[in-house]
Amino acid sequence: MDLLNSSEEMAAWAKAEGLKGHRIGFVPTMGFLHTGHVSLMERLRPRVDRLVVSIYVNPLQFGPNEDLDRYPRDPEGDSKKCRDAGVDALFMPPELYPDGFSTAVTVDRLTDGLCGASRPGHLDGVTTVVARLLNLVRCDEACFGEKDFQQLMVIRRMVRDLAIPVQIVPGPLVRDADGLALSSRNKYLSTADRAKGLTLHRALFAMREAEAAGEKRARVLLAIGQASLDVDVLDYLELVDAETLTAIEHVDRPARALVAAKVGNTRLIDNVAIGPELSWT
Ligand code: AMP
Repeated sequence: MDLLNSSEEMAAWAKAEGLKGHRIGFVPTMGFLHTGHVSLMERLRPRVDRLVVSIYVNPLQFGPNEDLDRYPRDPEGDSKKCRDAGVDALFMPPELYPDGFSTAVTVDRLTDGLCGASRPGHLDGVTTVVARLLNLVRCDEACFGEKDFQQLMVIRRMVRDLAIPVQIVPGPLVRDADGLALSSRNKYLSTADRAKGLTLHRALFAMREAEAAGEKRARVLLAIGQASLDVDVLDYLELVDAETLTAIEHVDRPARALVAAKVGNTRLIDNVAIGPELSWT
């Protein structure tokens, strides 16, 4: 596995691989890798000739009072996981942006609600870093997890709108045995926090079961979800159209229930598909 520590090294590697005619797959991450990240690598591995993973904790996507400084890091453990997953190049730059960096990429509308509303600027930080990474890695396919469903839809929109020549491949959300969505931030959770965190997926699955049993009214489904939640601060619990991410009144099309909440000092997110399946194009 090649270790690449600067944008210049990454660009040179990608150019050389492109000249060899190799198809490149890419999984961008912020590190402290877990089985959810590895599942994205495994999804792309058989589809491409060369697999690249990046690890970069992107300051642009953290708000002033968020956890940038205490975001968990484990470069050695991460390298081993990447090597074991058959990664060809690990791009782990100490700094990603050039001096004088002054550009931002913004996707409108899809970023109005959900995490776009509760973390102002966060999704702009994500689209800006992903645009730079996609240009450096020049990959044919990039995999993003459904764990961050709004992020996935926003990146798909950006790639279409800017004609970035990459196929965005969604990766299913991976959970712990108890149902908690895997997240690097789970490391912060005390036993009591974790018990509260588990109510996120319980609420979402209660909504999903009620819909499958015939309840289509969003208002009623949201009340069912609310009743299962036990968190310290609820950022949002919403039921939206899976394509537009706008609130729906009835589940009459592919929908998504999404939740974000704080337990202790840790912010957790989770989501499930509800209703007809979304066709991914
Ligand atoms: P992060 O390191 O949290 O920025 O995540 C990097 C990528 O891994 C993103 O595409 C996430 O959606 C994805 N990811 C994180 N957690 C999970 C999970 N539990 N299941 C599937 N994908 C995940």
